[in-house]
Amino acid sequence: MSARRASGEGVARLARARALGERFLYRTDEVAEETVSSTATTVPDETGFDAVGWDALRQEVLDCTKCELHKSRTQGVFGSGTPDTGFMIVGEAPGYYEDQQGEAFVGKAGQLLTKILAAIGFGRDEVFITNILKSRPPKNADPTPDQIAACEPYLERQIEIIDPAVILALGRHAARTLLGVDGSMASLRGRVFEYRGVPLVATYHPAALLRNPNLKRPTWEDVQLARKVYDEELQRRASQ
Ligand code: SF4
Repeated sequence: MSARRASGEGVARLARARALGERFLYRTDEVAEETVSSTATTVPDETGFDAVGWDALRQEVLDCTKCELHKSRTQGVFGSGTPDTGFMIVGEAPGYYEDQQGEAFVGKAGQLLTKILAAIGFGRDEVFITNILKSRPPKNADPTPDQIAACEPYLERQIEIIDPAVILALGRHAARTLLGVDGSMASLRGRVFEYRGVPLVATYHPAALLRNPNLKRPTWEDVQLARKVYDEELQRRASQ
């Protein structure tokens, strides 16, 4: 297991992050340009990160024809950010802009996710963001069981290579799929689950926050919880 170095500046940074987070919560106008200096830790090469396996997996996804979605997609969306991280985010599937650009979580929901991440001290380039499905379902339809069964092994291999300290699942469909349970997001959020041995926190999808600002408060609580789990897991690994 990769031992990732725990941050030594966490308290001060998180205080600033919380201040930014409060603005994220209560402002509806553009968030100020201020950014949080992130100290998200990374995995040095000597820890054994499998760069060759990662690149091969990316190419496999981009070439994949395992389900019918390859026929309608513009391109596969492997994920965005860095695999050299302990903080992994999993959504449901690429949407229109993701399909066009080949990046995960772009467009307005992606911009909001960027602000949410900044509020807990991460830049987008310091986490890895992906989806359960790597190809866009036409008209953004819900993933089918067959599509999930075909595509989930890619996510499992991403998790195996990254070895994240925590997974943040965004949206009801992502949470239900990863946890294998039914239930509303209200019943799944605010708790720590496990997905293949990795701590998992579920919260609302940024697109839901754009439709309903009342979801910002519970989302803020959830992302803080995910950050706390991340910090604790880093400390646990560092002490081993
Ligand atoms: S959704 Fe997944 S399994 Fe289906 S074609 Fe895309 S990469 Fe392959």
